[in-house]
Amino acid sequence: MTSLADKDHRYLWHPFTQMKDWLAEKPVIIESAEGAVLRDTAGREYLDGNSSIWTNLHGHRHPKITQAIKDQLDKIAHSSFLGLSNAPAIELAEKLVLLAQQSLPTPRFPLSRVFYSDDGSTAMEVAIKMALQYWQHRKQGRRTKFVAFADAYHGDTLGAVSVGGIDLFHVAFKPLLFDVLRVSQLSQLEKIVQQQHDRVAAVVIEPLVQGAAGMRLWPRGLLADLRWLCDQYNVLLIADEVLTGFGRTGTMFACEQEQVVPDLMALSKGLTGGYLPLAATLTTEEIFNAFLGEYSEFKTFFHGHSYTGNQLGCAAALANLAVFEEEKVLERLSVISHQLSAGLELCRKLPHVGDIRHIGVIGAVELFKNVAKRKPFPPAYKMGIKICAEMRKHGVLTRPIGNTIVLMPPYCVTDVQLKQMLDVMRDAIRAVS
Ligand SMILES: *Cc1c(COP(=O)(O)O)cnc(C)c1O
Repeated sequence: MTSLADKDHRYLWHPFTQMKDWLAEKPVIIESAEGAVLRDTAGREYLDGNSSIWTNLHGHRHPKITQAIKDQLDKIAHSSFLGLSNAPAIELAEKLVLLAQQSLPTPRFPLSRVFYSDDGSTAMEVAIKMALQYWQHRKQGRRTKFVAFADAYHGDTLGAVSVGGIDLFHVAFKPLLFDVLRVSQLSQLEKIVQQQHDRVAAVVIEPLVQGAAGMRLWPRGLLADLRWLCDQYNVLLIADEVLTGFGRTGTMFACEQEQVVPDLMALSKGLTGGYLPLAATLTTEEIFNAFLGEYSEFKTFFHGHSYTGNQLGCAAALANLAVFEEEKVLERLSVISHQLSAGLELCRKLPHVGDIRHIGVIGAVELFKNVAKRKPFPPAYKMGIKICAEMRKHGVLTRPIGNTIVLMPPYCVTDVQLKQMLDVMRDAIRAVS
């Protein structure tokens, strides 16, 4: 009988993975989980140190989310959202709009409409296409340019890659991408918007923290300044809250911390608590209304997916939001955040540790070959990969971003589990570097 590991090696191609390295190692095959603990087919247990790539919030097999999915399964798993509706999708849309309006200040155009898709990348595709088509309906079809930041990450489909700015991931696809006005600072952006505001459709940003860039924090106030600038020049603001949404930065949404309401907001990763793929793009009545017209005018938003508005996903998301309320999750986040911050600080004296970055329930430690000169370890060292492999040996799973080690526990993590994650990370950095 061929083992699962052999079959994995024979048949699969894993995402963001150098398969030569993968094929040289025995894979960890996850079989079950509970809370912050993942268990593999050999019965080994691991702490989920990156919340299953930033998606899981309240832990695995949370009884309420599990039950909600089972209950929904007894009714229907999926029916089309093209020309039909369904109860979980309707209820979730209301909840998301209320949540956005309660969490964010009340602007002229509050977020009031929900467009579903399947993942973070599609939520961003939707935002980009909506912004572009909105200006056409407003008879400002010259506004076709998007402004995006250096080192941004918005997903892996081609529109999302176009606004993305991580060369390592994106350079191969350059011939297929649309041009973006790329900026690294607000002052640059101001100049561009001043000069070309009648050509700019929208500015795209990951609010407060650039995730895939290595958990890089924006200077405080930048987001609020950006909103102000967009208002001055009548440019749309797209907030990619795919990572930051649902408590990751300590508040329900990152935009909340700078009292900003975007014109379009992309949500995904934590939307279902990490149980099922689902995404939502929230927007304003102002944008929605621009798409209204006679059928024959074809102002329709021509975008949709086979699984749009999927009932199982929406049921999971409703349960996820109920857990936030019933278990007062937001209050607990500051406790986790403090413990995480204190634990990360203990890394500061370790050799090669250059930067420590922390916000909410996101922690990152960046290593340098030469800290004083900020000289990175060359890729051939595989420094981040080696440290995470060492952590895995000691029962903590996470993935590096280059030479940055990310720690992002689910919110159900206990004090003891978080301490273990931090201890294992420190020991691994010491051992490997
Ligand atoms: C993960 C991520 C995406 C892409 O989401 P997928 O579900 O992987 O398509 C987009 N934006 C940000 C900020 C992300 O962290």
